[in-house]
Amino acid sequence: MTEKLTGKQRMAIDRVKMPEQAPAVRAENFEEVNLGLGEDAAVEEAKRCLMCKDQPCIQGCPVGVKIPEFLEKVAEADFAGAAEILRADNALPAIAGRVCPQEVQCEVVCIRGKKGDPVAIGWLERFVADWADEHLEPPKSEAKPTGKRPAGDVPGGRVAVVGSGPGGLTAARELARVGHEVTIFEALHATGGVLRYGIPEFRLPKHIIDREVANLEAMGVKIECNVVVGRTVTVAQLMDQFDACFVANGAGLPVFLGVPGENLIGVYSANEYLTRVNLMGAYKPASATPILRGAAAVVFGGGNTAMDSVRTAKRLGAERAILAYRRSRKEMPARTEEIHHGEQEGIEFILLANPLEILGDDRGWVRGVRMQRMRLGEPDDSGRRRPVPIEGSEFELPADVAVVAIGTRANPLLTSTCPDLELNKWGNIEVDENRMTSIPGLFAGGDIVRGGATVILAMGDGKTAAASIDRYIRSKS
Ligand code: FAD
Ligand code: SF4
Repeated sequence: MTEKLTGKQRMAIDRVKMPEQAPAVRAENFEEVNLGLGEDAAVEEAKRCLMCKDQPCIQGCPVGVKIPEFLEKVAEADFAGAAEILRADNALPAIAGRVCPQEVQCEVVCIRGKKGDPVAIGWLERFVADWADEHLEPPKSEAKPTGKRPAGDVPGGRVAVVGSGPGGLTAARELARVGHEVTIFEALHATGGVLRYGIPEFRLPKHIIDREVANLEAMGVKIECNVVVGRTVTVAQLMDQFDACFVANGAGLPVFLGVPGENLIGVYSANEYLTRVNLMGAYKPASATPILRGAAAVVFGGGNTAMDSVRTAKRLGAERAILAYRRSRKEMPARTEEIHHGEQEGIEFILLANPLEILGDDRGWVRGVRMQRMRLGEPDDSGRRRPVPIEGSEFELPADVAVVAIGTRANPLLTSTCPDLELNKWGNIEVDENRMTSIPGLFAGGDIVRGGATVILAMGDGKTAAASIDRYIRSKS
């Protein structure tokens, strides 16, 4: 046990800096930008936590990680103890520590941030998860085979999980931990969902997803890839074969701009662009999957997907990698750290501008975009100020690659084969507070319920649904 610090001593410590690859170097490679904290820096940062009585940071975390408890262990350099606390509530801490928007969750409510910077909770989460991976065997509770309940308990059930994104992986882990036999059905040939095909290697290295999936398999979770539920097998068939089913098939259908020129050669949806690069390895010289490496690439949108696409274009060699967004920087939904990193890497931001038409040459290839300037009007339903076109402000932006990253919506492939399933007007599955759908025993969570949301919200849904499924199966025994 280390000596307890006074509040004054804690307040005197400055927030640690995250070591990272130099901007000019990383803009030309796909390796991770952030290099991770060392042990001494992590201990020092954790000492900044004020151990507040009210613990608002826990309320700010969608999976309720006991943040002050794990920070206290880090401050004592008891990293194994910290890992145990962290993993009790967060199934995928190495992933959440890298991609969660902490600045609008735990860190925005951190009391330490009222005077100075908040505690770097996300970076410490990542540190602890990586340390545990390097130094510890998978926790015993995780290694036990599934389908086993303690003597005297009701037997575990058989549960099907549709989709291997963060929602599906979390639900599978939580269900396996309490003794259910779990099979994940995944449409693609690889697991991880957006974590693998959407978020680039330079933000989330794939070996981290491989590690989490290997842990699940070691627990006895079965994973069947190349199974498109709704085609290869129906939900009704799964409901016949299993005691319950959790659907977390995401919202992967790209939304397009609806402007002339979207069919020109050189226009991609962000979904296709990132999948080619991340899943199919198109950036590697020997890859069989091609990708256009334009001299000037323009990406439309302001969220994480847009930032990932434009930074990918830069790494693919674009001399001009431009992000065009119709609102101002303040309204950009992307993580603050990614915007900051993009700026450092030389991404050009054209803010308050909207595409009117994608322009082609006589061979049908993109040659530019006709854009229009915008101003901000009154707030819309989302609370963000609405972009209003400025008449007569059109201008042409030369570009040979255009990537549309303005959002995604639910893919009707699965839901359309399930006539009794209640959907909302956008095609997302309706669930109650237990994540049960209108069909008893069928649960759903993540983006298919919320629309494009976040990794941690999908994980939170997976956790809630797993607890509800456990209760449901017990109620049937
Ligand atoms: P998904 O991750 O979409 O996984 C769904 C899985 O289901 C996929 O593997 C899919 O192949 C599979 N599937 C689909 N249909 C079927 C079917 N019929 N049968 C079987 N399997 C099926 N969030 C953050 O918090 N931080 C970020 O930094 C961040 N960056 C992002 C960057 C990009 C490029 C994108 C696209 C999203 C980003 N998000 C981020 C959002 C986040 O990734 C999603 O909210 C999250 O992945 C949703 O998880 P999910 O489990 O619901 O679905
Ligand atoms: Fe520590 Fe911040 Fe949580 Fe307070 S709010 S307990 S300072 S992490």
